[in-house]
Amino acid sequence: MHRVGVHTSIAGGIHLSLERAHALGCTTLQIFSHNPRVWAVRERSEEELAQFRRLRKEYDLSPVFVHTSYLINLASSSPDLKKRSIDMTVLELDAADSIGADFVIIHTGSASGEEPRIARARAIDSLREIGVRGTWKAGLLLENTAGERGDITSAIEDIGGIIDAVTGRLIGGMCLDTCHAFAAGYDLSSEKGIYRLSAAIERNITRQRLRLIHLNDSKGGLGSGLDRHEHIGQGRIGMEGMRRIVRHEFFRGIPLILETPKKTDEDDPLNLARVRGLTHPPG
Ligand SMILES: [Zn+2]
Ligand SMILES: [Zn+2]
Repeated sequence: MHRVGVHTSIAGGIHLSLERAHALGCTTLQIFSHNPRVWAVRERSEEELAQFRRLRKEYDLSPVFVHTSYLINLASSSPDLKKRSIDMTVLELDAADSIGADFVIIHTGSASGEEPRIARARAIDSLREIGVRGTWKAGLLLENTAGERGDITSAIEDIGGIIDAVTGRLIGGMCLDTCHAFAAGYDLSSEKGIYRLSAAIERNITRQRLRLIHLNDSKGGLGSGLDRHEHIGQGRIGMEGMRRIVRHEFFRGIPLILETPKKTDEDDPLNLARVRGLTHPPG
């Protein structure tokens, strides 16, 4: 029902992310296309890119998701940072197309001490500018955030407002992070909370444009605003909550990517096994 994957490393060559995902039994994956904490991006050889595209088909890893750099802030009040963020987003989209990735996930930005409304307007400006700079096969997905200070995209309504204001083919929809949603006050551990969230998505985004779920448990409590991911079933959403999410009709068939903690080599296999156990109950 769901394709399931994890975020894998590109260390040693971008195609190795596919080897790692395949070895874990994943059917989809997420990667960074470069180091997400530095601005420098190196060119890749056509050979390397072709190898990725070939291997990805061979292993039937689909969709391929690229998560953008952490440095990007499309809502920045600094003209310099805003420009660098726009340029970097363009590079990310170019990189995604060059490997045949399907979607690019972005944290839209944050406000630095000013009204969120003003920061959101600036993010819309930036996205419109990116849309003028080119067209890409890969669709941009706006991810909901946890509601930390300066956050401008923790409410589904606000993400919908941004998507509606940016016309054209740039935006492919949204990515729902379950940890972020829980931290922002959507109680995904209960039927009522899932209903409230799904109704907000239906109204502001549409179900069709919900392209990805970042399936993460949450260290922080409901409405805590804390962006702290936890192993599946070991956080405040809990195993029952996780089961409810992955089996819920509203989320049926949407790819699941785990961004759970990786302290040892056992962590990914363990979390994946838990999710598979929830999606395919024994017997
Ligand atoms: Zn996420
Ligand atoms: Zn997070």
